[in-house]
Amino acid sequence: MTPYPHLLSPLDLGFTTLPNRVLMGSMHLGLEEAEGGFERMAAFYAARARGGVGLMVTGGIAPGERGRPWEGGAMLTTEEEAERHTTVTGAVHREGGRIALQILHFGRYAYHDDLVAPSALRAPISMHTPRALTDDEVEETIEEFVRAAELAKLAGYDGVEIMGSEGYLINEFIAAATNHRTDRWGGPYENRIRFPVEIVRRTRERVGPAFIIVYRLSMLDLVPGGSTLEEVTLLAREIEAAGATLLNTGIGWHEARIPTIATSVPRGAFAWVTQRLMGSVSIPLITSNRVNTPEKAEELLATGCADMVSMARPFLADPDFVAKSAAGRAEEINTCIGCNQACLDHTFSLRIASCLVNPRAAHETELVLSPTRRRKRIAIVGAGPAGLSCAVAAAERGHHVTLFDADDRIGGQLTMARRVPGKEEFDETLRYYRVQLAAHGVDVRLDTTVTPELLEASPGFDEIVVATGVTPRVPEIPGVDHPMVVSYVDVLRGGAEVGERVAVVGAGGIGFDIAEYLTDGGEKASLDPETYFRHWGVDTSYRARGGLGTPERARPPRSVHLLQRKTSKVGAGLGRTTGWIHRTELRQRGVTMVPGAAYDRIDDAGLHITVDGAAHVLPVDTVVLCTGQEPRRDLYEALRAAGRTPHLIGGADVAAELDAKRAIKQGTELAATL
Ligand code: FAD
Ligand code: NAP
Ligand code: SF4
Repeated sequence: MTPYPHLLSPLDLGFTTLPNRVLMGSMHLGLEEAEGGFERMAAFYAARARGGVGLMVTGGIAPGERGRPWEGGAMLTTEEEAERHTTVTGAVHREGGRIALQILHFGRYAYHDDLVAPSALRAPISMHTPRALTDDEVEETIEEFVRAAELAKLAGYDGVEIMGSEGYLINEFIAAATNHRTDRWGGPYENRIRFPVEIVRRTRERVGPAFIIVYRLSMLDLVPGGSTLEEVTLLAREIEAAGATLLNTGIGWHEARIPTIATSVPRGAFAWVTQRLMGSVSIPLITSNRVNTPEKAEELLATGCADMVSMARPFLADPDFVAKSAAGRAEEINTCIGCNQACLDHTFSLRIASCLVNPRAAHETELVLSPTRRRKRIAIVGAGPAGLSCAVAAAERGHHVTLFDADDRIGGQLTMARRVPGKEEFDETLRYYRVQLAAHGVDVRLDTTVTPELLEASPGFDEIVVATGVTPRVPEIPGVDHPMVVSYVDVLRGGAEVGERVAVVGAGGIGFDIAEYLTDGGEKASLDPETYFRHWGVDTSYRARGGLGTPERARPPRSVHLLQRKTSKVGAGLGRTTGWIHRTELRQRGVTMVPGAAYDRIDDAGLHITVDGAAHVLPVDTVVLCTGQEPRRDLYEALRAAGRTPHLIGGADVAAELDAKRAIKQGTELAATL
């Protein structure tokens, strides 16, 4: 008996049957435009097909020049272009998988000169104002969608997904706020939805009955002037009548100021939205957003929230998500932690996507962990993310690995990260590594501070890897040894007492985390959907347009100043797709952000600073240092002095701008070469 009977049950679509209820949602990989990208995509999608996912959707492909995200962005307009896609479809079908091509028109979100929209209205997140499409051009655009679908069929795809959500062109036609047209494509709702309905209707006409058409429907816009539930329901019915096979859920436009997929969003929080449409249409409904475990997916299906579950990033993290669930090995799943650091942050800076917890994602042909021909004895010192990833990957290749850590648990700095509200998902990464270390027979020695002598006394290691991480930097501020001064480690691990008035010195990733930790009102919003929606102002009664409500937040227990020396915007260096969330959160909690601060001294009166030439004293009870890190290299230096040639990875190698993404990647890459 499987614990996931609903998730693993087949879904009959009439002309074809999907083997389970799992859809791999669309993700732009950056390979679509890269040299050799089709071969790399073939390897990427084939691995996920092998891993048992029911149906996959490709990253968005534009139906024409104007719909491209940027100059040179991928499109499907000719048979020649279709031919190149057969590399992908062939590889997927050889593994017994199914794949649909997403057709995405960027509309006013495009980053090129010829951006178009129903009306000439600039998006709040764009620098450029679009041009309004003429009536002829609207017809032309519909034909482009239909032609792209025909070409997708020619290329061997099992279907298409028509992207109608997230604030892209189709969505812009639907919402009154972005469609001010007075012709047959604008005005009343019935006119505004003509564009998507015609796309689906004409696509069905041209591709025939035995071809999957998924329509991604914006079920909750989360923007002012967005649709109502009644309007969304009407559209769903019209799209069904027009010939769609499946309806997928879209939540929030890109310009919405409510997080919808970040790690601080509770798991499966938005499934209620899909559930509101259950029974209104007879085609299967797919729910989505922050579903990252088979347990949550099963629960959503078992409680009638949807007929199928879409997960996208979880398949970057682990291509074998479904196979492991089906084999009763769910604890071996490498869980997506919702950080966006290597996927969406890469995509939005035009880099090839990957995954923080799985650097092999979208790099399957480059980062290969082949079985070793010579089994070596390898000592790895440090069980932070760098050492853990290296240990697991080396052991997976067949090496005999011993992993040491001075601490009584694995995880290094992640044992602190997991304590920050909204970062609980790091627990899953630690669970994954614990299970993998055991599965691959790694000899784990905790509570063991490694010295050169200890290694000399151990039986001959062929390789030594030093992954001893970082130590917090102590800045040279007069009075830094005052009792009111603590480090982030003292706070997160040492249980240091922190007063009600606090200065956080250093506003990098850890400074922000500490400020959030210290101003958290104990709501646990990231763990409880109801609290989360209250906190961010989502109207779950769906009476308001777009589902927007008024935020209600708990009172922060402390007043905090967050300071940096740079004069740039505080938090400018945070994640591209998540930085705004942290900045908004702290602003809402009344945290005072101070750029351009010179730290003069710390004494009983508090922290003395100079900003813009003016001296101030912040009368605080506690100063928390979050002033970056220094590499911890004493063991490495001692081993070198003793004539050994150890490898150096993670923070011990380069501490500047170190994060878990780089640590895990470097550990895995080294293991591939040992
Ligand atoms: P570490 O994690 O520092 O691990 C080194 C290990 O080596 C430690 O366990 C230590 O005990 C052990 N060790 C040292 N010397 C010895 C010795 N002689 N013998 C035995 N063992 C030894 N990164 C992100 O990417 N995303 C985030 O959201 C994020 N959030 C963070 C939040 C906080 C609060 C903190 C503190 C960090 C966060 N980071 C985040 C950063 C991330 O945790 C670090 O970049 C990463 O842990 C560094 O990995 P590492 O393996 O190089 O070193
Ligand atoms: P960091 O991001 O480099 O920030 C260090 C901060 O300390 C900066 O604000 C810096 O700003 C200040 N600083 C540096 N030297 C100083 C000195 N001598 N005196 C006073 N101030 C000084 O490092 P971090 O915050 O320690 O984070 C470590 C790593 O973890 C980062 O790479 C980060 O990406 C990662 N992390 C990521 C996340 C995430 O959510 N993605 C969260 C936490 C941590 P000024 O020089 O302007 O003062
Ligand atoms: Fe998930 Fe982070 Fe990996 Fe993206 S980078 S897939 S959010 S774990």
